[in-house]
Amino acid sequence: GMPDAPPPVLAPRRRTRQIKVGSVGVGSDSPISVQSMTTTPTTDINATLQQIAELTAAGCDIVRVACPSADDAEALPIIAKKSQIPVIADIHFQPKYVFAAIEAGCAGVRVNPGNIRKFDDQVKEIAQAAKDHGTSLRIGVNAGSLDARLLKKYGKATPEALVESAVWEASLFEEHDFHDFKISVKHNDPVVMVRAYEMLAERGDWPLHLGVTEAGPAFQGTIKSATAFGALLSQGIGDTIRVSLSAPPVEEVKVGIQILQSLNLRPRKLEIVSCPSCGRAQVDVYTLAEQVTAGLEGMEVPLRVAVMGCVVNGPGEAREADLGVASGNGKGQIFVKGEVIKTVPESEIVETLIEEAMKIAEGMGEA
Ligand code: SF4
Repeated sequence: GMPDAPPPVLAPRRRTRQIKVGSVGVGSDSPISVQSMTTTPTTDINATLQQIAELTAAGCDIVRVACPSADDAEALPIIAKKSQIPVIADIHFQPKYVFAAIEAGCAGVRVNPGNIRKFDDQVKEIAQAAKDHGTSLRIGVNAGSLDARLLKKYGKATPEALVESAVWEASLFEEHDFHDFKISVKHNDPVVMVRAYEMLAERGDWPLHLGVTEAGPAFQGTIKSATAFGALLSQGIGDTIRVSLSAPPVEEVKVGIQILQSLNLRPRKLEIVSCPSCGRAQVDVYTLAEQVTAGLEGMEVPLRVAVMGCVVNGPGEAREADLGVASGNGKGQIFVKGEVIKTVPESEIVETLIEEAMKIAEGMGEA
């Protein structure tokens, strides 16, 4: 038969030029990638590679490592070589580490011109070295380290100031015929950040790396990132994303992937459709939803599992899903593809759902 139409998205992707971060394309011809950053000291090569392996397993596409010292720079060649995903070195103050990272074989280097004194003098050499090694760059403008000149002009890190800084820095590279870079204009305030990216998107066809900087602990950071990225991605703006959380980086990756899946920008995998519960609930929906989520974690097939607290909306939602339960009277009606296949006692709901999910997954050949 006909292949399924791709799921709808809120806006066509903004057209950008295309760059490569190692094997990963970044730009409108490539799927939106998810990035994170290691928290281990880069000098601790084993710990850093271990964390990169965990990030890779969680679905991270590109990883960034900090490089604040000569010892960190020395660790880069092994990390770049052994990492399963492209490595970007994050450089702030020292141009010499930009060269070291390029020579170390890093797929990309993040430069923050606001934090490199006399940056303009170095651009030509950086561009040449990056060209010679096939390294791409990110011009990472950050509210916290805005060029002093622009801070004076605008009084603070306004969207206009962030964009002016980014466009100026981009022009420095473009003057040397270097185009393999993406840009970020991060701010901790989602409103300022969204406005800055919207303005930047109008100014050129650079691929954009989205980030709300210092977004906060997991709960606040997740919401700030999801709202800000959602506002931009729903206009087609954004080619690679990094969620910043004061939490383990694997959590950042999970949040990033979930944001993309929610907007149909990445195929959905396991999706739990659970009701919020209400006075009609005849079962502890929170616990049930948590147990089902935990039991199905890591499932790689697109599966909608409905967990409903009563028979009001329960059967309807459960029928729409691939699999579901509607509870009532100490029992659970188990639905598969719209049919009640059995009714089990409440104590067996979780195991039955997990069993049935496994069967469906096996049927899809991807269990
Ligand atoms: Fe309430 Fe039932 Fe709806 Fe859950 S499914 S929110 S228990 S009415």
